[in-house]
Amino acid sequence: MRDIPGAWKRAARGAGLLSDDGAPIPTIFAEMSALAADTGAINLGQGFPDEDGPEEILQVARRAIADGVNQYPPGRGILDLRQAIADHQHRFYGISLDPERDVLVTAGATEALAAALLAFTDGPDDEVVVFEPYYDAYAATVALAGARLVPVPLRAPDFQPDLDELRSAVSDRTRVILVNDPHNPTGAVFSRDVLDEVVSLAHRHDALIVTDEVYEHLAFDTPHTPIATLPGAWERTLTISSGGKTFSTTGWKIGWATGPADLVDAVLAVKQFLTYVNGAPFQPAIATGLRLPDAFFHGTADTLKAKRDVLGTGLHAAGFEVFEPAGTYFTVVDAAPLGATDAAAFCRSLPERAGVVAIPLTAFVTSGHRSAYATLVRFAACKRTEVLEEAAARLAALSA
Ligand SMILES: *Cc1c(COP(=O)(O)O)cnc(C)c1O
Repeated sequence: MRDIPGAWKRAARGAGLLSDDGAPIPTIFAEMSALAADTGAINLGQGFPDEDGPEEILQVARRAIADGVNQYPPGRGILDLRQAIADHQHRFYGISLDPERDVLVTAGATEALAAALLAFTDGPDDEVVVFEPYYDAYAATVALAGARLVPVPLRAPDFQPDLDELRSAVSDRTRVILVNDPHNPTGAVFSRDVLDEVVSLAHRHDALIVTDEVYEHLAFDTPHTPIATLPGAWERTLTISSGGKTFSTTGWKIGWATGPADLVDAVLAVKQFLTYVNGAPFQPAIATGLRLPDAFFHGTADTLKAKRDVLGTGLHAAGFEVFEPAGTYFTVVDAAPLGATDAAAFCRSLPERAGVVAIPLTAFVTSGHRSAYATLVRFAACKRTEVLEEAAARLAALSA
C-alpha cells in the first residue's frame, strides 16, 4: 500500500493494528462481527445492547429534534445536562461539583479519555500506567499522544492487580494512572486496597488519576466507589463516564469528564479542537436519564446480573472455566478445558462449532504479553434474555 506518513501509524501500531508491511489490520471486533454476519452465529463479541433503553429518554431526544435543538450546544455541554451530571454525582457518591466549572460533556467516554491523555502527557518520557488487559482505545491513544504505555497485569481468577507489581510500574515518569472500574474486559471490580494504593502512588509520584467508570451502574453486588471519593484523591483525579452503557444508548456518544476545574479546563483545551461539541438533541435526553429514580439504576444492574447468570450457566455446561464477573457487560472464561491453546483460533472456530461469536482476550493486551492470556475468551451478556438462552443452549452442546 501507499506509504502515508503521519501519526496514524503510531495509533494503529499501539493498538496492534499495523502489519509489518505497514498495512492496517482490521480489529478482531470487525473480523468477528463479520464472521457472525456470514455464519448467522449469535454475536456475543462486541459489547452493545440489542434493545433500546428507557422510552422516556428516547422521547426526549425525538422531541428535542422536533423542538429545534439542532445547532451547536455550548462548548462545555448544555448547562442542564452538566447540572444533571453534578446532581447524579452527588446523589450516588456524595461528590459536590460546580456544573459551570467542574463538568465537561464529551463525545462519549472515548473522547474524554483521548482528550485527557493528550492533555496530560507530552512525549516519550511521559508514562501512562494501565491495567492489562485494557480497553483497546487506551493503547492507541497513548501511542497517538507519543507517550509510553506501562501495563500492570490482571490475572485470573479474580483479575485484581498484584500491589507490588503496581508499585513497581509507577514512577516519577508516570503522568497518569488510568483505572477502568468496573473493568472491561475482565468484569473485575477493584478492591478497596487496590484503589487506595492507586491514590497513594499518585501522591508519591505526583501523577494524575484518570478513571473510566462507564460501567458505574453495572456493578452487581456492591455499590460502585469512584476513586475521586477516596481521601486525598479529588484534587488529582479526572472522573470519566458516559450514558452509553447505563442507558443502552451506545450510538449517542454522550460522555462526560468531572473533576477539579483546572484539570477539566486542560481537557477542554484539547477537546475543543477534537469535536468542539456533539449530540445536541441527545444531551437533554441523557439529562433525563441521569434524573431517573434509583429504582431504574438498581433494576439495570439486577437485569444484567440475571443475564450474566443465564450466560454463565451455558458456559459452565460447555466445560469452560468461568470467571464470574462482579460487573460490566462481560464474562471471561478459560477455553483450555475444551482443548483450546489459542483463543483467537478458538474464536474463529466457535461460530462453526457452536453458532456463537466471542472475542479472544489477546485483543486487549500488548503483543509481547499475549501468552498469559492465550486461552481466555470474552463473552458479552448485554443481549436479550431469549438470545442469551439460545446462546447458552448452543454453548452447552459443545460438551456433548
Ligand atoms: C464502551 C466503553 C467505552 C466507550 O464509551 P463511549 O461513551 O461509547 O465512548 C469506554 N471505556 C470502556 C471500558 C468501555 O467499555
